[in-house]
Formats: sequence, structure tokens, C-alpha cells
Amino acid sequence: MYIDSHCHLDDARFSDDLDAVLDRASAAGVTRILSIGTGDGPPEIDRAVRIAEKYEQVYASVGVHPHDAAKVTPQTLDDLRVLAAHPKVVAYGEIGLDYHYDFSPREVQREVFVAQLKLAADLRLPITIHTREAWDDTMSILRENWAGEGIMHCFTGDPVQAQAALDMGFHLSYGGVLTFKTAENVRESARITPDDRLLIETDAPYLAPIPHRGKRNEPSMMIETARKLAEVRGTTPDRIAAITTANFNRLCQVRGYTRVSDGN
Ligand SMILES: [Zn+2]
Ligand SMILES: [Zn+2]
Repeated sequence: MYIDSHCHLDDARFSDDLDAVLDRASAAGVTRILSIGTGDGPPEIDRAVRIAEKYEQVYASVGVHPHDAAKVTPQTLDDLRVLAAHPKVVAYGEIGLDYHYDFSPREVQREVFVAQLKLAADLRLPITIHTREAWDDTMSILRENWAGEGIMHCFTGDPVQAQAALDMGFHLSYGGVLTFKTAENVRESARITPDDRLLIETDAPYLAPIPHRGKRNEPSMMIETARKLAEVRGTTPDRIAAITTANFNRLCQVRGYTRVSDGN
């Protein structure tokens, strides 16, 4: 059994065939999925939670992606606090900084990141971090504002960055990039990540692993990343499954919640 620790099931690219996507995931052994709740940003912040209500194997996070930081109002944070009380919300995020696209002004991204770290701490939820071309600012904000646990999602840093995140207590989650030819740095980071800090994800519909690169990614494709992770670490995919599943369930305190909606 695998857990996809970061997936965007609410993406429009899954709206026509989500049942089939989840069936293929189950058939491939991906039997639990964290659906990231950031969507297209506020005011609509509950799409992942609604999916988690419908499918037993799906859990949700809540939060505002750095891309959407400029859409945040004080009301947004109040709404997120209420939504986070939902029993299937097990993480906060993805939050952080994205200086590649700069869809929101950097100053606003930093402000909203800090505000959400405070909220996540209040809620006692682990955080999932998105950082792109913003490593130093991300780490300094975390050092000043975060004492809990969390995940560096789609970790693509080098071993020095990996070690810095590990020293702060973070889990490192590896996705499809691990399989890319040019990603030797990332594979080196995956080699030095201790068993008890290792996670795996798709970030679907983005970043499909080889041999699916360029296609719509989906949770069943995570098997390719698991194989590569096993190869890099000199172990078996089964062991990768066992380690990453135990880590996710511990970090997110998932205890086999089984509520499902009665209708369709
Ligand atoms: Zn991300
Ligand atoms: Zn994501």
C-alpha cells in the first residue's frame, strides 16, 4: 500500500474521470491520497474537503498557495480555521513562496506565509511547503516562525538543502522529478534522507514521472517514482511503500477514518 502525500484531485483535469483515476490508483496499490486544498485560491477553499467527504481513501489539506496570496483577506483566514476542523483535514498547505512565477507580490507572499504558519500552529496541523526559487527566504521564515513538523513537498533540492530541512525536523517528499535524467542532485538527496523522514507523492496532475513525462499525472503513476526511489536507496518498492505509509500516517495522525458520503 502506497500513500500519495500530495495530489490535486480538485484540478479541472480530473473533473471528468475522477472515479476512474481513483480506481486505477487503488489497482496500482495507491490506497490513500492527500488532496491539497489550495485549488484556484480564495474565496473557494473547500473543494478538496468535498472530495475527501465523497471518497473514503482521500484526505484533505487546507490553505492558500503562494500563487494566490494576493487574494487573501482577514475573512479567508477565519474561513480556513473553520474548515480545518473537518475530520478529514489532516495537514495545512501547500504554503510557502514561489519566486519563479511571482503571481503574487513577494512581500505579500511572505506576509501570507507567516500568517498561515501561525494559523497552522494554532490548529496543530503539520504543514506542507511549496518553495520555488525562494529557498533562503523560505528557510529563514520557517526558522523564525515554525517549531512543528512538516513536509517539503516535491523536494528538488541538493543534499545541502536536504540536510538543512532535515535538521529542522522536516520530512522530504519525492515526486516525479526524481525520475528525470537531469535530477542527479535530487537522487543524491533521496539517498541521504533517513527512513523516518521519507515521503512520496505525485503532485498530480503536474510532473508525471518517466515514462509518462508530459502527460497528465495521476496517483497510479506514482509506482514509477517508488521504483526509482527504491533503486536509488538500494531497497525494494515494498519497503518504500511500508516506510512512506507509516511516516505519513504518523505525521498526519491518520487512524483509518472511514466516513463516506451516503450519496453520489
Ligand atoms: Zn507545489
Ligand atoms: Zn501541489
